[in-house]
Amino acid sequence: MAEFLIVCDVDSTLINEEVIDMLADIAGVGSEVAAITERAMNGQLDFVSSLSARVALLTGLTVDTLGSIAESVTLTPGARDLVDAVHAAGGEIVAVSGGFHEILDPLGAHLGLDDWSANRFEVNDGVLTGRLVGPVIDSTAKAQILVKSAATRGIQLTRTIAVGDGANDLEMMRTAGISVAFCAKPIVADQADVSIAERDLSRVASLFGRIA
Ligand SMILES: [Mg+2]
Repeated sequence: MAEFLIVCDVDSTLINEEVIDMLADIAGVGSEVAAITERAMNGQLDFVSSLSARVALLTGLTVDTLGSIAESVTLTPGARDLVDAVHAAGGEIVAVSGGFHEILDPLGAHLGLDDWSANRFEVNDGVLTGRLVGPVIDSTAKAQILVKSAATRGIQLTRTIAVGDGANDLEMMRTAGISVAFCAKPIVADQADVSIAERDLSRVASLFGRIA
């Protein structure tokens, strides 16, 4: 049984990039997708609608492209140190992403995350159809995954820390024992227990002593 649980957002939190913007640039729809992303992250647009609209714009991209994006994303400074610190302290760390399994799977394995969840592209003949398959990871799903991940590990919610940067992370942050806004949008930083402005994820480890 783990001592505590960290649930961490992926795009712009665990990694430096917004993967969907990288995919959009390759697909030649960068400005259209960036405009939708910005509105969603500022809480001006429902996440599921905005995700569907953005994924539809990626129709025709190849699975090979996803592989090359997975290789080019960069870990946020301190990410590996945080994972090691969590494990050294007897905790577990899981990632929840409104992004995509094709990118997160190699990253999660490489980092030694204890579990991860993301959206999955529908693919036909090696090409994205512009739709997703399976459950969509939106803000409610992120919060539900936090609750379920804690319960299956026998961890009380007071002993969870949620880390994120976008409006999509607010629900899981409200659910967690401690909420951390990481280099976050103002709407997120304003509502978090702790706000980290320096781009160093290892700073989250300094909060372990505060876990009830
Ligand atoms: Mg994010």
